[in-house]
Amino acid sequence: MSPDPKAFPQAARDALKDPLLRPALGRLKTHFGAGRAAAVQRYGDFESLREAGKAIRDHAVTHLDDLLVTFEASVNARGGTVHWARDASEARRAILTILQDAGAGTVTKGKSMVTEEIALNPFLEANGIVPVETDLGEYIIQLRKEPPSHIIAPAFHLSKEQVAQTFLAAHTGLDPKRSLEERNALVQEARAILRAQFETADAGITGANFLSAADGAAVIVTNEGNGDLTRLLPKTHIVVTGIEKVVRDMTDVAVLLRLLPRSATGQPISTYVSVMAGPRGTAETDGPENFHIVLVDNGRSSLIGTEAQDVLRCIRCSACINHCPIYGAVGGHAYGATYMGPIGAALNPGVMGVAEAAHHANASTFCGRCAEVCPVMIPLPKIMRHWRAVEYSSGLAPKAITRGLGLWAFAAKRPALYRFGTRVAARLLRLMASSGMVRALPVKNGWFAVRDFPAPHGKTFQQQWKARR
Ligand code: SF4
Repeated sequence: MSPDPKAFPQAARDALKDPLLRPALGRLKTHFGAGRAAAVQRYGDFESLREAGKAIRDHAVTHLDDLLVTFEASVNARGGTVHWARDASEARRAILTILQDAGAGTVTKGKSMVTEEIALNPFLEANGIVPVETDLGEYIIQLRKEPPSHIIAPAFHLSKEQVAQTFLAAHTGLDPKRSLEERNALVQEARAILRAQFETADAGITGANFLSAADGAAVIVTNEGNGDLTRLLPKTHIVVTGIEKVVRDMTDVAVLLRLLPRSATGQPISTYVSVMAGPRGTAETDGPENFHIVLVDNGRSSLIGTEAQDVLRCIRCSACINHCPIYGAVGGHAYGATYMGPIGAALNPGVMGVAEAAHHANASTFCGRCAEVCPVMIPLPKIMRHWRAVEYSSGLAPKAITRGLGLWAFAAKRPALYRFGTRVAARLLRLMASSGMVRALPVKNGWFAVRDFPAPHGKTFQQQWKARR
């Protein structure tokens, strides 16, 4: 595992050789793929729902400035405070100031990819504040000091045996001979430990799946209920989320809530949907005394008006990840970034820079499955192609690729040469093949080290085209 997106090629090769990762990734289809397919079929006209979701998110992205101003006014009217963060550093500082003002020493956290993105936990620890992840998957990887390998299932790469080993090593106050063979035993142990943390935490931090501008409310979905315990029990609650999560109102949120769980896990609705709006009111019996929302830009607004703008529609459901053959082969850690799979490939080069994350855009077969399952119809392959073009035009592409493409372009502009070249190449490949497969070439040894290439048979495309016309 590497935290460096530039190390993707080597990290991917290492991941391919990881025997524990294979069975874990094999569960993608059975866990998520099959669940989504069944949910879509049960719903009926899912395409109309996708169209509605796309329209809502498109409106949000194209009216972000107005919606955010409305959202801030609505939050203020409810007694909450909005903090604006241009980048990760500003976001971390804003959160630290809130926590220090509250005198917080311990903070419980609901699952939040934005806090992963801004590397909040190490920053809090360095400043004497103990963050405790309360989503079960996040809790497991926090104990293992690993980043999430999946957006909605952060510990997806681990077997239950690995989780049991992690708990035995971390929970040293418990009987070392206890049985942790059953999943339920693992869940019960984490539950008991986290319950004590919920009761004593000074502050709680959650993310938000959506923000309603009209209501000044943040909405999160969870299946464990940890979001509610994180936001309701401590005196101070901080929501940390990206600026693009805002939509007009709860009517928009209701449409997106039909799309998100069906696309993510195949559930018609998540077990818990929590609407968080302002501090505890005088007539309310629970809720925080202080309510803050930290809105993080961190490169998002720079995508508005560009060819990658559509990526801001994302609702982080992970459907594209669950259906991606590249993610399915190498897992999430190989990406060395918070966002992995097709959404990472479309988003990371934009917010991190092409020089940093170009490998992600290249890590695609362009099968198009990601765009087919995306609930808000983001043209992910098109955006990846855009980043590839930027990489090429900026001179950042590897020399072998630039020269290869240059050679291909030279030939493609000269039809006679192209026809001759393809005929010769097809014949040569046929001569080099055994049992219908080309197994090695004097070039691209790395490519052939892990796969064979079907030998061309019959006529070239141009010969067939000519014959049919
Ligand atoms: S790009 Fe689409 S499919 Fe992928 S996480 Fe975002 S909303 Fe889901």
